[in-house]
Amino acid sequence: MNHRSVINAESAGAAPSPARKRSLLLRLIRSAQPMTRTELASRLEIDKSTVTENIKPLIAEGLIREETQEGEGRKARVLSFVNDRDYFIGLNLGVRRSQVGLISLNGEIEEEVDFETPSTATFALRMARERIESIYRNNPDKQLRVIGVSVPGMTDASRSELVYAPNLGWDNVQIADKLKVNESVKVIVENDSTAAAMYEARVRIRRTEEGLMSNFILVRSGTGIGVGLVIGGEVFRGSGSGIGIAGEFGHMTIVAGGKPCVCGNRGCWEKYASAASAATLYLGDRPPGRGESVPRFVEIVSKAENGDNRSRRSLEKIGDYLGIGIANVIMGIGVPRVIISGRLVYGWQFIKDPMFEAIRRSIVGKFEGWSVEAGEPVGSAIGGALEVAVEEFLTTL
Ligand SMILES: [Zn+2]
Repeated sequence: MNHRSVINAESAGAAPSPARKRSLLLRLIRSAQPMTRTELASRLEIDKSTVTENIKPLIAEGLIREETQEGEGRKARVLSFVNDRDYFIGLNLGVRRSQVGLISLNGEIEEEVDFETPSTATFALRMARERIESIYRNNPDKQLRVIGVSVPGMTDASRSELVYAPNLGWDNVQIADKLKVNESVKVIVENDSTAAAMYEARVRIRRTEEGLMSNFILVRSGTGIGVGLVIGGEVFRGSGSGIGIAGEFGHMTIVAGGKPCVCGNRGCWEKYASAASAATLYLGDRPPGRGESVPRFVEIVSKAENGDNRSRRSLEKIGDYLGIGIANVIMGIGVPRVIISGRLVYGWQFIKDPMFEAIRRSIVGKFEGWSVEAGEPVGSAIGGALEVAVEEFLTTL
């Protein structure tokens, strides 16, 4: 791949169709509300009449409200979603811990419960369902629209089941059927890196200097490593089989004959650059001694902050391996912008310099147009699952 094709991929987003314009319009209102019709038209580069045409039925339905905002100088009519009518539930099934949360269309997480993920899928889904039902019972006056589920693995084409989650050791788990609290509520199951990518895309719409058509690779590093991809503002799940590329990069070989991995291979990227790999780097591949427990990632970060050299070196090593993998992913996909999500972000200050150095060293042709930034850890947890639910709802309006 030459430099020019990387740059071309940056502007690969096609011109939006009418349905897509509507979806972008709703996404923009949700991310940057309250907004005037004029602001919406100018951000989307469409006519104000197109905005009005799309918004009118939603105002009539009571989903969007338009009200007068008293600003400095003149009054403006602004649009926002009606917040107290619909709600969404998210479930993030994590390898160690899981969360269930509630969100309204305004995007504020209103409730969140956290529990240790049971080792079997049956128990995990039973615990999740109890928590979902409790939220459902406690909100009889509002309408539950969609339940979004993020999982650390591949989903099927209809996004209703988990096909394979190596770090959980689960395969072919029917999730949607098990979590449906009533027939009118849709359940959408999404890969956790893709869910985190959706979350980060919305965060970037809110920042007005960035467009709705952003292109980036999301690298989620927690217990494992997963990759999500956003092209032209939309997540890309792969084509044909419906099983996306997401999740697969964690198992690319980065050290020949390296450490054995749960996937059956050796030397996988996630054995060297996930947040979980910090503990083995810290312990130097020996089992914990008597009275010594396997340190958690945040404990290693906190030790490094207090000047502990072994902790700092472990995090720097992760940065190095992370950078080598990122250079491969950038050149492989042809998108030069990367956002890091997941627990690893907590150690960003120690990881980033060795990571930048490794990318500079290993990227093909010393290509310089790349960037890597830290995302928000919540996007890789409950934030992503909730985003999946709300996005699904917006596409059906
Ligand atoms: Zn592996």
